[in-house]
Amino acid sequence: MIDAWAVYRKLPFWMQDVLITIVNVNQYRVRRKGAYREFREYYSKSWDKDKANWEVEAEYRLALFLDFARAGSSWFSSVHVSELSAFPVQEKADVINHLYDIATIDENSAIVSLTGGTTGASMKVLYTVEDTQERFALLDTFRAYHGYEIGKKVAWFSGKNLATDGDVKKGRCYRDDLINKIRFFSTFHINERNFDSYWNALERCSPEFIVGFPSSVFDICEIADRKGLKLRNRVKVFFPTAEVVLPQHRDVIGRVLGCKLVDQYASSEGAPFILECAYGRLHIHPLSGVFEVVDENFKPALEGELLVTSFTTHGTPLIRYRVGDRIKLAPPDECCECGSTFPLVERIDGRTSDYVLSPENGRVNLGNLSNSTKSVTGIIAFQVIQDFQDEIDVHVMASDLFTASERAKFIDALRERVGPTMSINLKVVKDIPREKSGKFRIVKNRLST
Ligand SMILES: [Zn+2]
Repeated sequence: MIDAWAVYRKLPFWMQDVLITIVNVNQYRVRRKGAYREFREYYSKSWDKDKANWEVEAEYRLALFLDFARAGSSWFSSVHVSELSAFPVQEKADVINHLYDIATIDENSAIVSLTGGTTGASMKVLYTVEDTQERFALLDTFRAYHGYEIGKKVAWFSGKNLATDGDVKKGRCYRDDLINKIRFFSTFHINERNFDSYWNALERCSPEFIVGFPSSVFDICEIADRKGLKLRNRVKVFFPTAEVVLPQHRDVIGRVLGCKLVDQYASSEGAPFILECAYGRLHIHPLSGVFEVVDENFKPALEGELLVTSFTTHGTPLIRYRVGDRIKLAPPDECCECGSTFPLVERIDGRTSDYVLSPENGRVNLGNLSNSTKSVTGIIAFQVIQDFQDEIDVHVMASDLFTASERAKFIDALRERVGPTMSINLKVVKDIPREKSGKFRIVKNRLST
């Protein structure tokens, strides 16, 4: 098969820009036709609805969706009542192995989404056009609430390998959508050597908004921070995608770009949404679907794994789908100053598979591990790899400030979490490679794979 990206990267820059503009404008046109406008209005009015009001609406949408799945999908036809608890838990493996039993539409009439799974298995889901339009309407409403509208200048950092090493050296670490004013940066070449290329391109573009992987934007900002640089024209908002946002991301990115960081949760297979409000709190959007948080025995819990039921997955219905992420809910009686009564989430903990298994303490999840850098200076990034039950390798990218005493502090903090008997092999490294998808993983547990 011809690698389309490889061919693309050989064209002159101006032609690459024109092509990416055409593809993008066309994609935007499809996403924002049809039901889009109606859903934009629906979601703009949703945020401050009364609790009684949205609860009824959410129940109604759920019932409609479950009826639809039972009637339209052979996978769900054996479920006899449209009650959520009557549906079995849906695993990723079910979607991978039985897509055509679960899907209600033909691949030809669908918008196909491909995701790289955690285990390397690629996963495919089929969306209806209308569901895509609804998802973008909600996402656009959320971004508009924080100031962004299409056409405002935005820099995008997602996993597209759109530049070559040579391009980046020439300062061309990006491609431009000239009509929607989007600068797409390659996230595959960010390092100390290419820093000037990225920094100058950012300065010249002077974006009002940034969207993309927090770890990529953080990498640029972290180098800038060490050099004492700040972006001349401050960015208004950074919308991170696809990865867990860490406290140090907020800190450093905020300082260097001068922007607010506004988080969201949604997955490419179509999970419902969790969105950050103007007061920095995360709210479940109950009109986009149902989030069940469960413990190891699948009993309801405040903190644990997510089962999602998503109202925008008519093409490939996701019902009680084990999406593989963990969250912690806020106490149900907590209110938010923003005025919305949508349920509050305390934090998003990321992937369930990202944990260290401690002989004494059991699962130590990503959120907990990443906190161990809190009082330690000099750590740029770190990754924990567990290949054995009683041993972890910790790779640290560090600055000169990471002295022997900081190192000891970090090990103490890790020790507190992983327990007294675990061997901790800490190694300072020049670079920590990313995954094929371009994402950065803090924890790699290879015990179970
Ligand atoms: Zn709020």
